[in-house]
Amino acid sequence: MRKRLVAANWKMNGDKALVADLLDSFKAANLGLNSEVIIFAPSIFMGLTESKLSDSNIKWGGQNCSDIEKGAFTGEISLSMLKEFGCTHVLVGHSERRTLYNESNAICAEKVKSALAQDVTPILCVGETLEQRENGTTEAIVVEQINTVLDLVGIQGLAQCIIAYEPVWAIGTGKTASPEQAQDVHAFIRQLLAAQDVVASEKVQILYGGSVNGATAAELFGMPDIDGGLVGGASLKQEEFITICNAAD
Ligand code: PEP
Repeated sequence: MRKRLVAANWKMNGDKALVADLLDSFKAANLGLNSEVIIFAPSIFMGLTESKLSDSNIKWGGQNCSDIEKGAFTGEISLSMLKEFGCTHVLVGHSERRTLYNESNAICAEKVKSALAQDVTPILCVGETLEQRENGTTEAIVVEQINTVLDLVGIQGLAQCIIAYEPVWAIGTGKTASPEQAQDVHAFIRQLLAAQDVVASEKVQILYGGSVNGATAAELFGMPDIDGGLVGGASLKQEEFITICNAAD
């Protein structure tokens, strides 16, 4: 039985006061007790996040990482740095990284490989643009994104990852995929993994991301292949995020 998981992606939002306030309220609401809850705060607040959450059931992670161990890479953050601040997870291949920072499938695969080598669980984000959905190439896009990782780390590597299906047209747009639309792609992803290894395919958590909110979460999380959500905007709203986490319990 796969555990439900809700992850909060705060992107480049918030300040010290908001981060402290949200983390205090999530802790007070006992999030992470039944379903897993992971907070992806901006990396500059990682020390604050660690100090607030270390005595809670909530986990935290990095929104991005370098695939390289260390060296002259100005502005980058290594996996060992994330680990030193207690991060257990890292987002890889979020559509904003792919689009705005030109992260290719190959780079995402290298990041997954490096994260696995450091025992940090990657959440691999995949998904199609509106144009690709309208062209009927959703499945081909997702296959390419996942196969590049499979080619590098194999099914046993991918079995240790979490996958987030995030249709780009639904991210930050207020346009959630319908539970059926999301379920179709989740089932397709699970079949793709099952073609390699059925046990692994049953184990991997597949999250849905794209304008999830308190009103849509329960129905989405009720679908058989949707194991939780990766939540952006709504995770910065205290009550809304708590409602979403409760929907996963
Ligand atoms: C995201 O950034 O991963 C995301 C799903 O954002 P939103 O919930 O705001 O669409």
